[in-house]
Amino acid sequence: MDKTQLASVKELISEKTNLLIVTHNNPDGDALGSSMALYNYLIKKNKNVSVITPNHFPENLAWLKGADKVCIYNQNMADAKKIIEQAEIIFCLDFNALHRIDKMEEAIKTATAHKVLIDHHLQPQLENFNFVFSKIDISSTSELIYNFIVNLDGKDAIDKDMADAIYVGILTDTGSYSYSCNYEETYTISAHLLQIGIDAEAIHRKIYDTFSESRLRLLGYCLSKKLIVIDELSTAYISLTREELNYFNYQVGDTEGLVNYALSIEHIKLAVLFTEREGLVRISFRSKGDIDVNEFARKHFNGGGHHNASGATSRISLKETIAKFNNSIKDYSELYVIFDEED
Ligand code: 5GP
Ligand code: MN
Repeated sequence: MDKTQLASVKELISEKTNLLIVTHNNPDGDALGSSMALYNYLIKKNKNVSVITPNHFPENLAWLKGADKVCIYNQNMADAKKIIEQAEIIFCLDFNALHRIDKMEEAIKTATAHKVLIDHHLQPQLENFNFVFSKIDISSTSELIYNFIVNLDGKDAIDKDMADAIYVGILTDTGSYSYSCNYEETYTISAHLLQIGIDAEAIHRKIYDTFSESRLRLLGYCLSKKLIVIDELSTAYISLTREELNYFNYQVGDTEGLVNYALSIEHIKLAVLFTEREGLVRISFRSKGDIDVNEFARKHFNGGGHHNASGATSRISLKETIAKFNNSIKDYSELYVIFDEED
């Protein structure tokens, strides 16, 4: 991390009182994990700290220390706006572009506070922030928060509550150490979190063994009825209409990880999930190896993210979005499979 920027942010933190942490819409384990780790660190410094998320986070993260204090913007706009106005420093975690905070975008953009971005996505919008701690080749924003705290105050500054939150971020953003997991540092940090006293088995159970019956049935339905495999283009996708989500009593987070099942088919290099929500279509892209879904999401759907995991929002209908997608992939020669005549 840049030492000059770190020193300036350290000084700012010591001078200011009202600190705010914001993270992206549909907060996942890394978004909330990194936010709660930083929250617990700053609270210990006797600061007045708030966390605002654009919408609700999944229930399986509610046990994180401080999660009960999070202000949900779309449920409590008046309070949230006041907090944003009064904030002296705003920490923006786990997103690279302001549109990722959805309806909060304008309020954060126009806020007078110093803005600090801590993030691991490609191509961050540098112009919107006073300080940027961006690293792409890292497991998660939570790992960046670990480094941030350690750089500011040393390893002993990380307590059990922060360690729990950091571990959740690393665990979820690496799919339980199955992708973005080739960095030695991630394991050194994880080992330190265990030394601090986290219970990795218990955390895994809290995150992955607390699903509702309807979520599991939705998964079964998607795999048996909704998975479309385009063998000749190494592509597989799943789409879900609002009615289907309602039928399975959809709760935030219920489709998390679903797209990875499509990618787990041996020859599939590109997997996509389309879900119809709140009049928009959310798209999740995942890929293997050289297929760059950050570039694909940017070019065709104004989205982005990482090389092998990205997302976007589409404002045309689900049907039209899928048609556009089917059309777009035809240009990607690296997806074409050359079938052996013997096969
Ligand atoms: P997910 O499919 O899990 O929603 O997102 C995959 C990755 O892409 C995440 O790292 C997420 O932060 C990023 N991402 C998702 N949607 C968007 C988007 O609309 N724009 C950008 N720039 N990144 C996104
Ligand atoms: Mn992340």
